[in-house]
Amino acid sequence: MPTVVERIAEARENVERACERAGREVEDVTIMAATKGRSVPEIVAAVEAGISDVGENYVQELLDKKGELDEAGYSEICWHTIGHLQRNKVRYVVPFCSRIHSVESMRLAQEIDKRAARIDRVQAVLLEVNIAGEESKFGIAPEQAAQLAEQVMELEHLQLRGLMTMPPYTNNSEDSRPLFKVLRDLAEQLVSLGLPNEAMSELSMGMSGDYQVAIEEGATTIRLGTALFGPGR
Ligand SMILES: *Cc1c(COP(=O)(O)O)cnc(C)c1O
Repeated sequence: MPTVVERIAEARENVERACERAGREVEDVTIMAATKGRSVPEIVAAVEAGISDVGENYVQELLDKKGELDEAGYSEICWHTIGHLQRNKVRYVVPFCSRIHSVESMRLAQEIDKRAARIDRVQAVLLEVNIAGEESKFGIAPEQAAQLAEQVMELEHLQLRGLMTMPPYTNNSEDSRPLFKVLRDLAEQLVSLGLPNEAMSELSMGMSGDYQVAIEEGATTIRLGTALFGPGR
């Protein structure tokens, strides 16, 4: 089995090649380690290999790992919340979270705003869009994006940065391409409707099976679990 270091090196090469194909700069693509179910030593290995962004799905797991990593001297990690976020958990992540990738309702946005206001912080967020309309997935329908984006822009302690999506699982990465295109087009459409460029400058899309295609379609953050850590247990 390849080590985390070897897997990261390979992922980086793939990112470079995808950027070359797309005429993009590697600096414009952030590799986030998606670390649900991964151990603290695995995360340390990734951070030692140069990964600076880490995303967790579950708040308790995030807090436990962050606590251990802070104590071990890894306090520079940029933490992301990438899964469905319950409103009653918002207050735990707002003090330090670099990005919340999963804003999917005004009620959630308002809770983030309220908690961020209390500690005088501005929380960067992405709207999660359920492009394929899967029942089992969270996220807003593309048609709802303009309205939610406008409402989020009104919240003083939220900074809208872009869109996030998670396509249906497939073993053919080309299946994801049209969905990634829809997300990028949607971001462009929102800008043409009057949203500032900065509010739509980030696209969080692409996982282990389809990140190269995602980069070709404009991803600025790819979220990698298996590609960096191997199959989960
Ligand atoms: C688990 C997860 C990932 C990473 O999935 P892999 O296929 O292992 O790369 C990315 N994004 C989200 C939201 C996840 O839950």
